[in-house]
Amino acid sequence: MSLGEFDIIARYFAKQVSRSDVLLGIGDDAAVLEVRADRKLVVAMDTIVAGVHFPAGIDAEDIGYRAVAVNLSDLAAMGATPAWMTLSLSLPEANETWLAGFAKGLFELAAKHEVALVGGDTLKGPLVITVQIAGWVEPDRWLTRAGAQPGDLVFISGVPGEAAAGLAVIQQHLPLDDSARHLTHRFLRPEPRISLGRHLRTVASAAMDVSDGLLTDLGKLCAASGCGAQIDIDALPQSPAMQQLFASDNCVDYALAGGDDYEILFTVPPQRLAEVTSLPAPLPICTQIGVITAGSGVECRRGNRPFTVKRRGYDHFEKEQA
Ligand code: ADP
Ligand code: MG
Repeated sequence: MSLGEFDIIARYFAKQVSRSDVLLGIGDDAAVLEVRADRKLVVAMDTIVAGVHFPAGIDAEDIGYRAVAVNLSDLAAMGATPAWMTLSLSLPEANETWLAGFAKGLFELAAKHEVALVGGDTLKGPLVITVQIAGWVEPDRWLTRAGAQPGDLVFISGVPGEAAAGLAVIQQHLPLDDSARHLTHRFLRPEPRISLGRHLRTVASAAMDVSDGLLTDLGKLCAASGCGAQIDIDALPQSPAMQQLFASDNCVDYALAGGDDYEILFTVPPQRLAEVTSLPAPLPICTQIGVITAGSGVECRRGNRPFTVKRRGYDHFEKEQA
């Protein structure tokens, strides 16, 4: 590396989002943080790898943004407020243009949510980025995947499938008209639903963020809650941009099985319905797509008929389908 490890940290990452609860930040052997006695610490970590989580060759700025976004999304799903993060950066080379772009995207989203980068690790290797994020939630107020009950309504924020369609636009080098640009933006710049998570922490019975695909992730929520779910394909939020560029079968496929949405999938008891149907801006639109059942697993229906799904979602270790 032309730039030393120390120079990389000093030049690109020592810049701070200042927070009074960071007693000691980057530069020592570890960070020291002030944690209030009346709050619980919430911690998550997510790694993104070139060629696995994003196509090699996308802008460094988008990669930096994304590394923070996927982590913020996990905290959103817990109903938590993010506060601090650490960054492990494995780089093939110390390219200054790349580092400047990466840091710009990373700090853009971190600053928006007042998250301070308090430490990390920098090493030479394949392009692998790990962010660990920490935040807080009030005692007994965190959301989990495990609280859904039969009869609860199943909701999704935003428009699932648009991110996967955006990835297809990038991979298939489709011409970038307005629809294509909207979809690629949804893939490259997911909006972590922090405010929605905060709103839901007193309303939802269960919640999780959707990263591997709606059906796969709903299956995980159902398994954790010990119940099943029934989804109505016709109730899925429609994406005009996706419908303009892709056949309707593919649109349903992206919505049900496409990953990378980073929307919040949640359940609410029917008597709390009013608290999620007319959310004040800037909270995203949330759409009821089904109900929790007493069985197990996720069943899809279209109108009154069962609907057979081609693809359910993403699993890193799944065996190749014959
Ligand atoms: P140590 O050898 O004690 O692990 P390092 O020399 O690796 O410390 O790191 C020096 C300081 O820089 C530490 O405070 C560490 O947390 C921070 N740091 C290293 N890499 C990064 C990074 N990519 N982003 C933010 N902080 C980093
Ligand atoms: Mg040390």
